[in-house]
Amino acid sequence: MHVTFYGVRGSVPAPGPQTARYGGNTSCVEVRLADGTTLALDAGTGLRALGNILVREGRAERVHLLLSHTHWDHVLGLPFFAPLWDKANTLVVYPLANEAQQRFQRNIFDDIHFPVSVHDIPARVELARPGERPWRVGSALVHCVQLNHPGGAQGFLIEDADGARLAYLTDNELNAPNPVITTEALARFCENADLVIHDSQYVASDMPQKLGWGHSQVDHVLGFAALAEPLRLALFHHDPDRTDAALDRIGEGARAWLAEHAPSVELLVASEGLALELVGR
Ligand SMILES: [Zn+2]
Ligand SMILES: [Zn+2]
Repeated sequence: MHVTFYGVRGSVPAPGPQTARYGGNTSCVEVRLADGTTLALDAGTGLRALGNILVREGRAERVHLLLSHTHWDHVLGLPFFAPLWDKANTLVVYPLANEAQQRFQRNIFDDIHFPVSVHDIPARVELARPGERPWRVGSALVHCVQLNHPGGAQGFLIEDADGARLAYLTDNELNAPNPVITTEALARFCENADLVIHDSQYVASDMPQKLGWGHSQVDHVLGFAALAEPLRLALFHHDPDRTDAALDRIGEGARAWLAEHAPSVELLVASEGLALELVGR
């Protein structure tokens, strides 16, 4: 399984010299499965660059889109996804976290938020109805989990035929005041993962103002990783105000904590362009 980050930022794009190294685009991760199937996890502004690469490499014909939820930072790249503008292509969109979010397609392509209506997109947009869970997508099984986020969000565990396991868990507040899922249950959900990508937007000094906003503190994410023990943990959905220098410091602190408390877990701070290969364990 190949995993490539195209957008790692939360809430709103944050371009500029202070964020140039980690990147300013919002959530989008490409997953290429063992059988060659292409998945896009979220459609933040990073999706635009992914679409251009898929077209250039001749891999745009059928793309599977899995959305954590429909907040702007996870859907804003969709109108600018180049494969949509060629009738030879199909975008397969998987069910959303809840009924209210299912309305989003009408909302984003409604002639008000974007000049083209949903009926005028040249590509075929197929709404997948995978029925029973876990969903079958290409060579993988995709397990879903409801996360702690205002308005709801879903996380995914993608289990490929070759044994590679990826958990994508954003936007989620670990240790939320009234959780829909506890930290322990979420750790069980992504047991034996090769890579866990987790929302790490806040640090302890952001609290208590941002308590209940639906994002996690880095130290809580580390505690979670010590329970789940993935091979690798990627801090993700960085705050738009977090500079490259601040993310470097967060990474150093996180690495030191893990070295003491969960030395088997390798720490990554997600950045645009970071590409990983998962081989199963
Ligand atoms: Zn978000
Ligand atoms: Zn959100």
